[in-house]
Amino acid sequence: MTDLSLTFEPRALAPEQEAIRDEIRAFLKDEYDRGTFARAQEAMAKHDFGFSERLGAAGFIGMTWPEEFGGRGLSFLDRYVVTEELMAAGAPCGAHWVADRQSGPLLIRYGTPEQRERFLPEIIAGKCYFCIGMSEPDSGSDLASIRTTAKKVDGGWLVNGTKLWTSNAHVSDYMIALVRTEPPSDDRHAGMSQMLIDLKSDGIDIQPVKNLAGHHHFNQEMFTDCFVPDDMVVGTVGNGWEQVMSELAYERSGPERFLSTFQMLVELVRAVGPDPDEIEARAIGRLTSHLMTLRNMALTVAGQLTDGELPATEAALVKDLSTNFCKEIPEVARLVYPPDAGAGDNMKYEEALATATLYAPSFTIQGGTREILRGMIARGLGLR
Ligand SMILES: Cc1cc2nc3c(=O)[nH]c(=O)nc-3n(C[C@H](O)[C@H](O)[C@H](O)COP(=O)(O)OP(=O)(O)OC[C@H]3O[C@@H](n4cnc5c(N)ncnc54)[C@H](O)[C@@H]3O)c2cc1C
Repeated sequence: MTDLSLTFEPRALAPEQEAIRDEIRAFLKDEYDRGTFARAQEAMAKHDFGFSERLGAAGFIGMTWPEEFGGRGLSFLDRYVVTEELMAAGAPCGAHWVADRQSGPLLIRYGTPEQRERFLPEIIAGKCYFCIGMSEPDSGSDLASIRTTAKKVDGGWLVNGTKLWTSNAHVSDYMIALVRTEPPSDDRHAGMSQMLIDLKSDGIDIQPVKNLAGHHHFNQEMFTDCFVPDDMVVGTVGNGWEQVMSELAYERSGPERFLSTFQMLVELVRAVGPDPDEIEARAIGRLTSHLMTLRNMALTVAGQLTDGELPATEAALVKDLSTNFCKEIPEVARLVYPPDAGAGDNMKYEEALATATLYAPSFTIQGGTREILRGMIARGLGLR
């Protein structure tokens, strides 16, 4: 009989992790007191290069990387604590986020010694920014259908095609792009490769794509005979699919997934004040208990990663529940405390509600759509 269970063993944080929490809190308090940042609701979409550099200098980027690569050799639970605090503070993390979370680990795993030497110190210092070039027009969930090609030429490759929805390409230094180095064959996952593309190269046209909030967060890039030198191929030519799948695992398990609209919840509590009516109290109590449950589940996943396990199904489940939860917060807030319900000036609440509402639809799309995740969960449970 199929085992339809997933176990989330509770994972407590160790005193060393709480010490790291004190460290990052002190860093953030100092930044906040000096007025270097205002709380951002969409923390991952806010860029502040100076903030990223100071965060790097304080040792909070590349924390889990081995010491030989300049990291602190800490665990995913340590990193979990730092991410949680950055998100709860609404700190501007957009600049270094992708490089810290997945490009650096990808280079540690598959990069050449020269690539590691060139890029890792700059990433750790919060000075080198990456974006992810996977999706294309007509290729998102079905990533194997990408059409951007790289053709071998003397000393490198010529890239042609279009990438779409690339977060922060306009403010990044490099893209790690998934491209076809062989024509499609019966094995749909064969013939793809990953390349580091310097976004200042000739032959790249980066165009903004505004999101629902009217913000310039993602882009479309057109590549026309863009030359990529041989030494910028990541890993093995033809092994791109396997590499990309390992990269996506880093993307799905962090506390950013259930804290995307946390600032909205804070504003709701503030707006309602110390004397909530029964409906408001119930709504806030329910959201808070869901938040704590998701936090415990995410901690379990971080603990499993720390133990060297690959909890793909658990991570997909936490992401699916978390992104739905983030969508629910503005929805519940709007119903229990409509924007014009407050006496006097509740602009901050209204702004938070507007931003959360406009960003919410993207949560269940980015990093794997809800349907794709549920397919993975079903497979993990042996139902497909
Ligand atoms: C805020 C944001 C940031 C992003 N940043 C990046 C980035 O930096 N780099 C990057 O490469 N991409 C990025 N993306 C793109 C994202 O990865 C894709 O949008 C996503 O993979 C879905 O692909 P698609 O948009 O082509 O939709 P489609 O794949 O066409 O899906 C359309 C709908 O069909 C459903 N569907 C598709 N296939 C199946 C199936 N087999 N079974 C059931 N349902 C299915 C989907 O769930 C969805 O509801 C970003 C997207 C967003 C919203």
